[in-house]
Amino acid sequence: MPYLSEILCEYDPRWQEPVTRVREAKSLALMVMAVWVVMRQLAVRLLEEELAVRAEAPTRWPGCRHCGRRWHSKGFRERRLGTLFGPIRWRRRVGRCPQGCAGSAVAPLDEALGLLPHQRTGAEVHWMGCLLAVFVPYETACRLLPQLTGVPLATGTLWRWVQPVGQRVMAQLAEAVEGLAAGTLPPAEPLAAEWAALPLVIGADGVMVPFRPEPGTPKGKTRWREVKVAILARVGERLTRHGQRVTGLAQRRLVAVLGTIEELTPRLWLEAVRQQVRTAVRVVWLSDGGRGFWTVFQRCFQALGATAILDFYHAAQNLYKGAAAWLDGRTCACQQWFTAIRHRLRHGDEQQVLAELAALVATPSLPESARDTLTNLYHYLKTHEDHIHYDQFKTAGLPIGSGLVESACKWLIQQRFKGVGMRWSEPGFNHLLHLRLAWVNQRFDSAFPAMIPSPN
Ligand SMILES: [Zn+2]
Repeated sequence: MPYLSEILCEYDPRWQEPVTRVREAKSLALMVMAVWVVMRQLAVRLLEEELAVRAEAPTRWPGCRHCGRRWHSKGFRERRLGTLFGPIRWRRRVGRCPQGCAGSAVAPLDEALGLLPHQRTGAEVHWMGCLLAVFVPYETACRLLPQLTGVPLATGTLWRWVQPVGQRVMAQLAEAVEGLAAGTLPPAEPLAAEWAALPLVIGADGVMVPFRPEPGTPKGKTRWREVKVAILARVGERLTRHGQRVTGLAQRRLVAVLGTIEELTPRLWLEAVRQQVRTAVRVVWLSDGGRGFWTVFQRCFQALGATAILDFYHAAQNLYKGAAAWLDGRTCACQQWFTAIRHRLRHGDEQQVLAELAALVATPSLPESARDTLTNLYHYLKTHEDHIHYDQFKTAGLPIGSGLVESACKWLIQQRFKGVGMRWSEPGFNHLLHLRLAWVNQRFDSAFPAMIPSPN
């Protein structure tokens, strides 16, 4: 059996040099890197060979769009493209209208291959570049991509690639939202049988992102704007290696919008329908006291019989504010009262907690400042009377803290959009946000039509 390296060198003496580097590599790491170079060159040759074969096949010339005459071949012309393996070149037939109509030359093979007339980089490189940009700052991604692929990249190129893809994803989303409003249901996302039996937990929160004050210039004071984030997930309990019961999420989906609650609501509803909210065994809404987000619950999920839970830690925080206003935060009495009432709220005595607060507010000797705070606290808990059955919720295996919403905000927004010195333009933020959403929701590849095999 001849060695593969010998076959290569016999086939073309130009392989001699890279193959020699493999043979001379001392460490395994250097050997792997030398093979990497050989593999890239081999891939380029395979691609160019295949393209040459296809270019030789008979061409069916289309009719001219303007005058209808059949195009004439003007012979073979070179085409270059940056691919995942480095630059490639091949020659293919180019034709034009015998009348010389506008629209100049056409290359039927380019069209068959899904190449646009002025495209200089392969769709697979765009895909990988956008994927990198989802996770790391543009500057870093611009350095990583040439290292990974061998495609040289000018600063700003990656940013320009992300914009049209982001626009496409946003347009698809807008279409689906409008469709649903007009009565066209989106296809339900497939769900594993063991997850279908779990409650669908939905929650939402807001997170601030730094923006440039004026479009087109980095000057001026940072403008902070709120991004609304919602999470939908099947929530169950699983045992850790140490036998501890912890909450586990499955089929986690995120929705986010740089905009108002009114703009979040239809997007969240769309995703909820995709996640089969209407047939879920149990729907749970989880949020802190933010009034705006509770209107989402009232508008979308209340009528479905959803269970709503007021974030326990938020409720406890408000109890503490009440305790501190009444009993001075530094005292032992304050600490004791707070600990006791928090314990009762957590363990099924919510009605007594409400009764105690009502009695307290009615006490004539209460100072006025404390009365206001305690009255607010009472109304807050009374409003959420149905959402504070923490003992029942816990027994049913439901989460009582909105930690899953907060961690979604951290991952989706904090990690990529709030790096040192980062400030965004509205379109720049939106395009990348929607790519990041597509990634986390496992729909990233569908944003790249050229990467999806078409059924023949
Ligand atoms: Zn013509």
